[in-house]
Amino acid sequence: LAIASLDQVDPKDIWQKDKDHFVHPWTHFDSFKKDGSLVMGRAEGAYVYDLSGKRYLDGIGGLWCVNIGYGRREIAEAISAQALRMAFYNPFVDTTNVPAAELAAKLASLAPGDLNKVFFTCGGSTANDTAVRIAHYYHAKRGKKSKKQIISRIDAYHGSTYLTGSITGRPADRSPYLHFVDDLVHHVSSPNFYRAHEVLPNGVGKGMTEEQFCDYLIEELEAKILEVGPDNIAVFFAEPVMGAGGVIVPPKGYHKRSLEVCHRHDILYVSDEVVTAFGRLGHFFASEAVFGIVPDMIVTAKGLTSGYQPLGAVIFSDRVYEAMSAEDPDGWFTNGYTYSGHPVACAAGLANIALMEREDLNGHVQKMGPYLEQQLNTLLELPIVGNVRGHKFMMCVENVMDKTTREHFPDAVNIGKRISDHCEKLGLIVRPLGALNVISPPLTLSKEEVDELVSLLRQGIEATMADLKAEGHYKG
Ligand code: PLP
Repeated sequence: LAIASLDQVDPKDIWQKDKDHFVHPWTHFDSFKKDGSLVMGRAEGAYVYDLSGKRYLDGIGGLWCVNIGYGRREIAEAISAQALRMAFYNPFVDTTNVPAAELAAKLASLAPGDLNKVFFTCGGSTANDTAVRIAHYYHAKRGKKSKKQIISRIDAYHGSTYLTGSITGRPADRSPYLHFVDDLVHHVSSPNFYRAHEVLPNGVGKGMTEEQFCDYLIEELEAKILEVGPDNIAVFFAEPVMGAGGVIVPPKGYHKRSLEVCHRHDILYVSDEVVTAFGRLGHFFASEAVFGIVPDMIVTAKGLTSGYQPLGAVIFSDRVYEAMSAEDPDGWFTNGYTYSGHPVACAAGLANIALMEREDLNGHVQKMGPYLEQQLNTLLELPIVGNVRGHKFMMCVENVMDKTTREHFPDAVNIGKRISDHCEKLGLIVRPLGALNVISPPLTLSKEEVDELVSLLRQGIEATMADLKAEGHYKG
């Protein structure tokens, strides 16, 4: 049943099969049963085409991941060559393969400090899951067996395995029909300064300066550590810039100071760079280059292969590895996946990094990122755009009913979705997240494509404002 050409595909038939059989991530059953999904057929550069042939500028890079853009022949050729040479061989202890060894060495050379050890996984969730097991193993091997608890943050997104679904702290992801491992995971406040008045308890964030807000967050983290007990805590998780939680850039100095608090209490610091690595912020990794920290582990996925193959990795320090691997007849690290170090995925990763280096995509993002930021900031002229935030190619627009009070639209308005629906009609994909629209396009965007993106988003917001006025939701 291999599909040789889209000409052989009946769009209605595919739409129906999808609706009848493919249960998607984050399905909202009522709307899925009613509307199904938009079937995408092909993609080129920064554009994706649905089965009717309609073209969209992909403002979200697939899902924060197609960093080098679509249709890059050399990645397809690297994948094909490796699949023919050797599609798979198992990575369990005694055997390995060429692309996995090469990619591990390459990642060690690109990662900061002494982060020279790489554990490959199937994606970001399994990488964060593995990071917990590394932390547990590391502490227990040093005789600190009680250090098991995990600290994360409200609004964080760290994945969707049983455990990473609990490390995740986005309130919207807490389905009342699922179970969460709350006896293992503790959440501190979101570093969302624009919403400081809401995210801190009892409204204490109201009127705070950014410095005061940062002081509060650091004190809160330390208080949480003391409450749970430093001897019970293994690891702290933080995205350098929170992604799915609302593109939240923390206050200045936040990461440095939280790393210092963690290390003072012998807690490992995991920087979840599933989104922020591989050029999205203009560097292979953002932890040190943008935020001045060398964490104990960096977790990555997505841009590692630009989405051409599923692959994740935990890159961790020599210091952690040395403690884990100290001589011990019982020293089995019983963690891993059939597809850890999958040769075809690693070949895609190597080709992706080679392309990024040859085309200097980090340099491109360092130039084009500020332009994207500046152009998106022009949307603040619109009466419902309350905040434009993010960094370089990781941005979002927050829509509000009242810019002065930052009052939200009622949930029923579904403002982000309405805007993204209008954008979709206009030929732009932007992801709705509650009141937000997220922008995380391929890093290859030209100046003209940035202009097109911002112009279509402006039209989408204006069209939504007109609808809301007509419906009486918004006076404007
Ligand atoms: N961590 C972060 C910061 C993410 O944004 C994501 C996915 O969006 C994940 C982890 C989970 O990665 P995956 O979906 O590949 O399992």
